[in-house]
Amino acid sequence: MWNYSFIIPSVLILLIILCYYFLRPRLPIRMNRTFLRILLIDLLTMSVDVISSRLDERYATTPAWLLWAANMLYFLLYFARIYSYYMFSLEVLDQHEEISTRLRQVSLLPFLLCELIVLSSPLTGLIFKIDGAGYHSGPWYNLLYLFSFVYVAGTYVLVYFLGKRLSRFDRLSLLGYNTVLVVGLLARFLMPTYLILNTFCNLAVFVIFISFQNQERYLFSRFTAYNAEAFRTILHEWHGRQKYRMLTFSILNYTGLHDTFGVERMDLCLEQILQLIRRTSSRGLTFYLGSGRFAAIQPDSQADETLTTDLINRLHQPWQIGNEQVHLETAFVLSHSPLTEYTGDKVYEALMTALSDTHLLDQNHPWELREVMEESDRIQVVRQHLLAALADNTAVVCLQPIVRTETGEPVGAEALTRLPDGQGGLLPPSAFISLAEREGKIGILGDQVLHKVCRFLRDHHAELPWLKWINVNLSPVQCLQDNLADSLHAILQQYGISPEMIHLEITEQTMIDSSKFAKQLQALQKYGFQFSLDDYGSGYSNLYRLIEYPFRNIKLDLSIVRSYMEQSNQLLPEVIRAFRAQHFEITAEGVEDKETVQAIKELGCEYMQGFYFSRPISMDQFLSKYAKRE
Ligand code: C2E
Ligand code: MG
Ligand code: MG
Repeated sequence: MWNYSFIIPSVLILLIILCYYFLRPRLPIRMNRTFLRILLIDLLTMSVDVISSRLDERYATTPAWLLWAANMLYFLLYFARIYSYYMFSLEVLDQHEEISTRLRQVSLLPFLLCELIVLSSPLTGLIFKIDGAGYHSGPWYNLLYLFSFVYVAGTYVLVYFLGKRLSRFDRLSLLGYNTVLVVGLLARFLMPTYLILNTFCNLAVFVIFISFQNQERYLFSRFTAYNAEAFRTILHEWHGRQKYRMLTFSILNYTGLHDTFGVERMDLCLEQILQLIRRTSSRGLTFYLGSGRFAAIQPDSQADETLTTDLINRLHQPWQIGNEQVHLETAFVLSHSPLTEYTGDKVYEALMTALSDTHLLDQNHPWELREVMEESDRIQVVRQHLLAALADNTAVVCLQPIVRTETGEPVGAEALTRLPDGQGGLLPPSAFISLAEREGKIGILGDQVLHKVCRFLRDHHAELPWLKWINVNLSPVQCLQDNLADSLHAILQQYGISPEMIHLEITEQTMIDSSKFAKQLQALQKYGFQFSLDDYGSGYSNLYRLIEYPFRNIKLDLSIVRSYMEQSNQLLPEVIRAFRAQHFEITAEGVEDKETVQAIKELGCEYMQGFYFSRPISMDQFLSKYAKRE
């Protein structure tokens, strides 16, 4: 009566998938546990399907209670199986969107109801009954199909409403295995004797296995550690639901070490660190988040404080890379308390940003997760002010005079930007320039500043005849913009301003990406812009490279002016002499008092800028202070 040719290979395929499942590392998340449940229920259903079918064929020699029991078990498993596929879809959706407990409870109801109807069959005979002629389907037998279609249709609806944050691949896979189930149900309906639904369930398991259970999803490709996606998923699922301890850290000098030692040797070092983490928290989870960033998470009950301290201490010791000993500059973030006011996704984003920002974390003092979250909140506020200023054109451009040393009279000015903080105050550039650079907004901000500078020159230059130029800061990130020269020139044209009036201040850091940078400068130079090298002496200094570029002016960073004033040395006068010999003009920044003015005069710098003359002031204040001097 039954045809078993499909079910035997189906069981074998399932067993193979089960073996693979247990052989590979698995993230302890609900999605994976649900997958395991699917595998076990599938295996059980198939086995019971074969057994109950065989018994039904031999009903004459089989005790009635055994026929009742085998068939009832089959129907109970049938509903459980379809329900477990639905649950898996919920867990996939839950990876991004929070699936509410209410939805989970409502979803459970039809399942429980159907199980009750099956259990009541000996009394009601609704789904099936057994009599002297063996097994018979009951009047409600087709509830099996109705139930299955309701859950599959439910999945489609949920994917439509809650699946927007899923990747396209995940969304298609979800719809894919549910569609396979629909086809299987139709096939079962049309060919009831072939036990064919099992094969389609197998196919659905296969789709799930290759799309949601493949290794790349949660494992870092080069090491046996979980990856950033696994970290995000664990935080999303554990945060607020379960207590855990977490240690994350970043190698701040990773880029430099990577450039020096290359990928392979650096990987050996990273592998050693991962082993160390695994040794110190043997029952925890270890993550490599890329670019020298690591995380270790343990359920709270297993956490051991001293292990964390040991790990931190060891990381501060030198490490061996090949024959070299290197010192890793590491910064840590620890988490003890649950911080339920934040979602797991928010914690993930804040941590990843903090660990990537080499200037934020402190090497000598581990941060608490709370501090990272507060910093992230602060950045969020700044981000809002930045976006508001960009949308409403409300960035405030201040001007600070630049004075000719010989006469003590102002001849130029530097444009320095501030943002309204929403409470009548102003945010300094240190709060928002790097954020604007990171988030791709510096180009729009730079354009707004240039517009305001040009409008100021157009409207007020006549009142400030002494003003020869205005310096405008150009961020290294702006220098990466392809049509930079054309777009800056277009702004100047709009106001009828000659490019000689605008000096672009560029920091040394920009010069590192040399070929692109050189092209940008050439293009700008063709239009007639002039260049100042900003913050000379604050970092990377390469005199030869300087000569290659068309800088006219070099601005000495206030830090070297300050250290010269604290302890005079021969180096600064020599450097200045060398620059002058190369026909550079020199501007000293950070001139705060009379003594510095005197020292700068003696050093032979052409220009001075600093609080001694004026702080950066609003354009209106600048006008009332300096208009009609001649
Ligand atoms: P910078 O271009 O080196 O500007 C000089 C900084 O030194 C300004 O800080 C100025 O207020 C400060 N300063 C001037 N004289 C003195 C002094 O005598 N003593 C002390 N202690 N400080 C003095 P500010 O305005 O906070 O700007 C900081 C940095 O932000 C600037 O450094 C510049 O790199 C950047 N920045 C400002 N506005 C813009 C902008 O519109 N675009 C870009 N890309 N960067 C900007
Ligand atoms: Mg500057
Ligand atoms: Mg400067």
